[in-house]
Amino acid sequence: MTNLYIIATPIGNLEDITLRALRVLKEVNLILCEDTRQTKKLLSKYEINTPTMSYHQHSKLNKINKIADLLECGKNLALVSDAGTPGISDPGNKLIEYLIDSKINVEIMPIPGPSAVISALSISGFPTDNFVFLGFVPHKKGRQTFFENLSKEKRTTAFYESPHRIIKTLESLKKYVPEKEMVVCRELTKIYETIYRGKPDEVAKKIAPEQVKGEFVVLVH
Ligand code: SAM
Repeated sequence: MTNLYIIATPIGNLEDITLRALRVLKEVNLILCEDTRQTKKLLSKYEINTPTMSYHQHSKLNKINKIADLLECGKNLALVSDAGTPGISDPGNKLIEYLIDSKINVEIMPIPGPSAVISALSISGFPTDNFVFLGFVPHKKGRQTFFENLSKEKRTTAFYESPHRIIKTLESLKKYVPEKEMVVCRELTKIYETIYRGKPDEVAKKIAPEQVKGEFVVLVH
């Protein structure tokens, strides 16, 4: 039986990697990376020389077949994304579904670690025994429904947003959930980490236009 390890990697600070993740990255025959150049920064910091191969959400079926063949030949593989936990708004699920459906004799094991959404929830102070994660906000189709549903939601809601759209999304939050408390986490674990707390209009005022850089997790109470 061969192993496919689904390994969480840092969301910014390269020290946020577990000892087990480093050991497994050293021991496997090949690391499947969303972007090999991005993962090489992590591998070179820890002097890991394991070969890499790209695997991302748009990888074709022949790439998936190649991965399945490697596993069937007894190779142990690791899968990482650019940052955080693979499969969480990131590549992974399609490959895993294929391997399970094809009844390939492989053990699929998680190596847990950082995820932006969980890191944000952990410092929110909002109820987290029951929460909803909505991935990325739809750009066009479904955007209005997204915010309408959010306004009716009783549970803490978390989603990801890009720097290009955070202002637009704050405008929508001002319209649909003006009275709800929010936590907006920018650049978690990085130099410019900033946590904004307050109602949508308060947070919008705090996020000065020159700060609209970096990556964001938005939480709504
Ligand atoms: N799989 C990843 C995880 O487990 O965190 C998420 C991947 S998703 C493609 C990338 C999005 O996660 C970014 O656009 C941003 O919304 C959020 N994100 C990732 N790193 C972050 C960070 N350091 N601070 C804030 N948000 C982050």
